[in-house]
Amino acid sequence: MNANDIITLAKSHYGENEAIELEHAIEVATKAHSGQKRKSGEDYITHPLQVAAILIEWEMDIDSVLAGVLHDTVEDTDIVLEQLETFFGRDVAFLVDGVTKVSQARSGMRELSSYLPTTKDNLAKLLIAVGQDVRVLIIKLADRLHNMRTLNHMPHDKQKKIARETMEVFAPLADRLNMGRVRVQLEELSFKYLVPSEFIKTKSLLESRLKKSQRKLNSVRREVIKRLEDEKIEFKMDGRVKSVYSLYKKLDRVDGDIDRIHDLIALRIIAKDLDTCYLVLGVLHDLYTPLFERIKDYVAQPKPNGYQSLHTTVQTSTGQVVEFQVRTREMHEYAERGLAASFHYNETKLTDAYKQGTLAELPADLSWIKDLQLTAARAGKGQAFDAEKFRMNLFSDRIFIYSPKGDIYDLPRGSFPLDFAYRIHSDLAARTSGCKINGAMKPFSYELQHGDHVEILTSKTASPKPTWKNFVSTSHAKEKLRLQLSRESRGILEVVTDRFRRTRKK
Ligand code: MN
Repeated sequence: MNANDIITLAKSHYGENEAIELEHAIEVATKAHSGQKRKSGEDYITHPLQVAAILIEWEMDIDSVLAGVLHDTVEDTDIVLEQLETFFGRDVAFLVDGVTKVSQARSGMRELSSYLPTTKDNLAKLLIAVGQDVRVLIIKLADRLHNMRTLNHMPHDKQKKIARETMEVFAPLADRLNMGRVRVQLEELSFKYLVPSEFIKTKSLLESRLKKSQRKLNSVRREVIKRLEDEKIEFKMDGRVKSVYSLYKKLDRVDGDIDRIHDLIALRIIAKDLDTCYLVLGVLHDLYTPLFERIKDYVAQPKPNGYQSLHTTVQTSTGQVVEFQVRTREMHEYAERGLAASFHYNETKLTDAYKQGTLAELPADLSWIKDLQLTAARAGKGQAFDAEKFRMNLFSDRIFIYSPKGDIYDLPRGSFPLDFAYRIHSDLAARTSGCKINGAMKPFSYELQHGDHVEILTSKTASPKPTWKNFVSTSHAKEKLRLQLSRESRGILEVVTDRFRRTRKK
């Protein structure tokens, strides 16, 4: 897309004045970057232009798009922030400054290993930079997406390094912002560069499988459409194919047996409101046999990133297993575009509230952003904060665990059953005598897996043991256990002392 295409695209999204502003920004950026080339040999300006195009495609507000065009000017050209503020206003200058700070913090991190606790300082800078305005994160994601799309022009070692960073930092970030579509794009591209042989293998496995199941699936699709029409339900249906990377991850969990994966294709039904969604679910369960342990109500219990949808897996009379995802238009929008959907160019209401600092206007379940902003404000005033803690919150891989009542808890990957117990209640945890995972007894050393159903068994006589220290990994559980053990040992000490006194009295 060249400058003219982008201006034309912008005209269909924004007002006349905004399009003129965009033209101006493109002019300024083109002049500033003139003479600079990308690794591909193209003029450098192609990169900021594509970043802006991505932001328009995500339907971001005009300030973000302008900042996208200008995002590399302060770092790589003679342009200074004050000029941007004069030309395009405080907001745009603020966003460009944030993006610049993120890249500066990053260039300080030579190796990926520097994301480990040793570079608290760089990470603190990064978090402070992004914490000031969440749109900075979204612009960074657009920047990264375009760099990943053009990664083939980079030398091999750099490709791997950038791909790994994308996989470990930017894809989880997109996930935390519930920007599902972007997360998948970033993961697919990273995977392709990180383990090319596995990417090709998994991709062809997926394609041959899809060819095989397509015909059967089409008949299910027709059957469902007919039934929903008979019931006079308004809906839209499409299919989503599992991404190569998520298939690769899942294959690992089922010992490479693709027959055990039932959601290669999921049929997605979009209904007009929540009542209709539940109605559709009822129709599906009437038509086919539901696999009850696979019904997931993410509407009643949204995922921590705010994702909402009803999922069910059913078996047809011919033995075909199919996953359905049922949701409203709004849920669908939010699942695909996540936080970016909140800055829609048409919905200035939220953007304005956000700019005025009315943080409560942010979508529910994104409280970590609020935490981040509060922390950034505190750090800005020179008060101490724990960057490592926020790194964990932002970037670590989370798993979802179900309680017997069906409540969903999110825990860090690598958690044990006792971590789950302490998460529910430390008094409950203290009386733990055993645990059942998906209905079967497991030892305390069992590492919880995403989607596990966990039941904690208790007994009145059970008490915390020092050996439990080996079976907790979350800091919350460790701290609670430490307190309980010290109380316990104090208790034992009292008994011993008491007995000692009594013996002496004799
Ligand atoms: Mn860039």
